[in-house]
Amino acid sequence: MSHAILKSLGIGTEHSGTYLGQGEWSETTDAGALQPVNPATGEVIATVHASSAADYETIVKRAQEAFKVWRTTPAPQRGEAVRLCGEALRKHKDALGSLVALEMGKIKPEGDGEVQEMIDIADFAVGQSRMLYGYTMHSERPGHRMYEQYHPLGIVGIISAFNFPVAVWAWNAMLAAACGDICIWKPSPKTPLSAIAAIKICNEALKNGGYPDLFFLFNDAGSDLAQAFVDDRRIPLISFTGSTKVGRMVGERVAQRMGRSLLELGGNNAIILDETADLKLAVPGIVFGAVGTAGQRCTSTRRLFVHESIHDSVLDTLVKAYKQVEGKIGDPTLATTLMGPLNSQDAVKGYLAAIEKAKAAGGTVATGGAALTDRKGNFVLPTIITGLKNADEVVQTETFAPILYVMKFKDLDEAIAAQNDVPQGLSSAIFTQNLKSAEKYLSAAGSDCGIANVNIGTSGAEIGGAFGGEKETGGGRESGSDAWKVYMRRQTNTINYSDSLPLAQGIKFDL
Ligand code: NAD
Repeated sequence: MSHAILKSLGIGTEHSGTYLGQGEWSETTDAGALQPVNPATGEVIATVHASSAADYETIVKRAQEAFKVWRTTPAPQRGEAVRLCGEALRKHKDALGSLVALEMGKIKPEGDGEVQEMIDIADFAVGQSRMLYGYTMHSERPGHRMYEQYHPLGIVGIISAFNFPVAVWAWNAMLAAACGDICIWKPSPKTPLSAIAAIKICNEALKNGGYPDLFFLFNDAGSDLAQAFVDDRRIPLISFTGSTKVGRMVGERVAQRMGRSLLELGGNNAIILDETADLKLAVPGIVFGAVGTAGQRCTSTRRLFVHESIHDSVLDTLVKAYKQVEGKIGDPTLATTLMGPLNSQDAVKGYLAAIEKAKAAGGTVATGGAALTDRKGNFVLPTIITGLKNADEVVQTETFAPILYVMKFKDLDEAIAAQNDVPQGLSSAIFTQNLKSAEKYLSAAGSDCGIANVNIGTSGAEIGGAFGGEKETGGGRESGSDAWKVYMRRQTNTINYSDSLPLAQGIKFDL
């Protein structure tokens, strides 16, 4: 089946991981290879030849040349190129969604949903291409006009994580292309096939539309090329999505060379349930947030604060819901599956280690707590742990797996303080029917996260809003609202249409 999915996307079981532009895939075969594994079976899906240093140089040079043309192409025409990519993605949604499910391990509707996000951001970027607005200002000097413009930035470097193998690229690339930039992408070594497919689909559409190469791709067998990419002064923006550990290093190194970085790093997202919460909404919101994508979303729900008056009944209900999910763990490409595997054996080890740490800290496993050893692949049980404090190290840490820590609280201020008392600041939510509680939660003294929701869970952000988080989540914003501005350089212009030159601070130069 895996071969059929690959074939439908024009990918053989051996493929170059380097798109050099001009329709050329590199012929390099001596720079190492990536062998993405099907997380549901442990079998290698295909071999992807990694890129060499020479390939990387070719890409950067061609991207520089392409930028010279693209930066002066009118923005609405750039939008038309993005529209063609969106159309091509619509056509290939089913196949690409299946490949994402196969390679990453998320269930098929989530794989399709990821491709839909690519389509949505393409649509958004098409509109944005006519709205790259700057302000006009009133000059303090007579006969002068001031305004600001946004110009294309240059080459945008995109480094992405395994868990959103194609959507994260599109969030960046579709907007950056509309903004007049050229993108070079280094995907996760765990999901190179999804990246190859996305690049093929979009570049084919661009070629058919008579547009130049906007999207380049390289794959690194180790991390040397990725490191060189981060340090490369020819790349004014590095957009990095991944762990806080790697992202911190990327941010520091890009800052060293005075480049711009957009960091989308780990989360430790919480939901608060007050005593008025509507459980018809809250329970599916929690289960989807904690179990969806097997807990491998940056916005997955990891902590749940429940008012003490409803704690025990909510816990009972959640345990029952988790037992239902247990019966539907399996092959992510089957329609009946609700929860797929973790992406790697390392992730299974991380899951088991966190459970051991939680127990050692006094936690109790209310449900789950084990890997499924009766089958191949990286399957684990969705897990709820009670009896821990928010300050416990394991609760403070993002474990990329379906583990939910449930804690009690007495008053809302205490719950908000605990929610915020972690290093990360990505997504958060409260379920309440009390207007005052909702407003307090959204106020300046409320949630400190980049995303704060009321009566809807932590995961599943829409592309129309700016996406990202505070503190160790990195501070970057992608996708909607005015996130496009990071892909452009801002310029303030003053034009003097008078016959005199009034100098600043009223200074007179008698020349
Ligand atoms: P990771 O940090 O292990 O890898 C991310 C990327 O960094 C990969 O492409 C990897 O090859 C690359 N990389 C590794 N070493 C590098 C180096 N020295 N120089 C340059 N690049 C290097 O993360 P992961 O396991 O793929 O993804 C999971 C993490 O990503 C989680 O922490 C999750 O929360 C986070 N994430 C965040 C968001 C967000 O929008 N905030 C979205 C998705 C995932």
